[in-house]
Amino acid sequence: MKQIRKFVEEFFRNLKCDVREEEDIIVVDNIPKSFVDLVGRDAPYKLCFSKGEEGLDFVGKGSQMLATIVKYLEGAGKATILRIDFEVDPEVEIRKKLALRNCEIDSLTKGYKNNFFSRFSFVTSFNYLNESNRVLSEIYIHEGGVVEGDLSGYCVVDGDKLEVDSNRVKLDYEIARVRCIKLVEDKQKEIGDVLKEKVEMEIARIREHYDKQLKELGGDLNGKLEKIRDVEVGLRTCDDEERDSLRKKLERLRVGIVKNGDDEVVDKVLREREMTIGDAMQKFSLNVNRKLVNTTVIYYPVFNFNLFLKGDRESSRFVEVSYDPLTKNFSGLDCEVCAKRLDRVNLCDGGHICCEDCLDRCGECGGVFCVKCLRRSCKVCGRKLCKSCVKMCLTCGGSVCATHLRTDCVSGEERCVSCLRACLRCHGMSEEKYFGEALDGSKVCEKCLGIERRSGVLDRVFGGD
Ligand SMILES: [Zn+2]
Ligand SMILES: [Zn+2]
Ligand SMILES: [Zn+2]
Ligand SMILES: [Zn+2]
Ligand SMILES: [Zn+2]
Ligand SMILES: [Zn+2]
Repeated sequence: MKQIRKFVEEFFRNLKCDVREEEDIIVVDNIPKSFVDLVGRDAPYKLCFSKGEEGLDFVGKGSQMLATIVKYLEGAGKATILRIDFEVDPEVEIRKKLALRNCEIDSLTKGYKNNFFSRFSFVTSFNYLNESNRVLSEIYIHEGGVVEGDLSGYCVVDGDKLEVDSNRVKLDYEIARVRCIKLVEDKQKEIGDVLKEKVEMEIARIREHYDKQLKELGGDLNGKLEKIRDVEVGLRTCDDEERDSLRKKLERLRVGIVKNGDDEVVDKVLREREMTIGDAMQKFSLNVNRKLVNTTVIYYPVFNFNLFLKGDRESSRFVEVSYDPLTKNFSGLDCEVCAKRLDRVNLCDGGHICCEDCLDRCGECGGVFCVKCLRRSCKVCGRKLCKSCVKMCLTCGGSVCATHLRTDCVSGEERCVSCLRACLRCHGMSEEKYFGEALDGSKVCEKCLGIERRSGVLDRVFGGD
């Protein structure tokens, strides 16, 4: 039991949680999300180590909490796979979002694809002097980028590892690792700066100490002999632990007299100084250690629907829409004229999806069309015309409505009214080029001229005028 308690305490401390001991129980809080998700219940947890206490989480052989801890530790090596369980009927959601104005869903097929997040939990340890400082970073990656993540409030259940592409997780890990280094950079610099200041002071002290020694190697003989005497006296009265260093000092001083300023001795002191400085730098160095403590892949379904819409009049259209239950984002339908996102759908008689603002009527047939389908208008009356109501005049090339297109009474071809002239005799209409002067001097159409000519011929045959 003691071992389990120690193991559990260590586990939570390593995750940088707040661990508080209260008599026989341990209260842990400030727990990484990656662990909370596995437990499926929010922290704090009150952990007890003997069975049967109410309101507490028992930790021991066969307990849920212990199993979760083991699973979490395994998760450091391979990814823990979780699925967000949404209790929504996507079809209901889509019908709620899609207000159909002048059409109906004729048929519907549905499917889904998974949307993935990876979450990496790193513990970065800063070891220096006698201290160890730990920082926990939990980094969420979605579609190759770092995102803010939080799954609290969602129902998270075990996922299926077959749904997860391990290559993708590896790529995500690289991104997360770089992010993690960036995140702890400031702290690393802060500690590094303090250590640098300390080590510089230490090095200055060491240099001063050795400078004194080097000075002793030079200098006047009398002073040296005096120093030797002092050390000899000291050696006789010193403690055991001092003896060694005093002996060395005496040795140095003696050598110094024999070989005043001997290069070898100076070299030795210099070497010793460098070693001492090296030791100091080692002692004040910062050791940063980053450990991946958990990898979790979280996925959830994004639903997509293929709808076959049928309009009131003959028109129809296939559309694809999708619904993301996490973001509640509903996508796929934009007005095909102004590109505005649609919450109410209109189907134009030409089969286009559009908003109310982009909807109009054909001035001729009264059909409901988007403005794209009503680009043409009658050059005479200005009414907007749909594709099947627009007529073209072969003389001027203009668009006209059926009312303003007439049959030329001479050629029998159709022309717009502005390309025709009225004949005052027969009240028919014809192109200017078919007009000529009648016997009474008035301009009439060729048809009327023909009649006039024929009656003149008959008059001559039957002896008239
Ligand atoms: Zn529009
Ligand atoms: Zn029309
Ligand atoms: Zn249209
Ligand atoms: Zn018209
Ligand atoms: Zn015309
Ligand atoms: Zn005429």
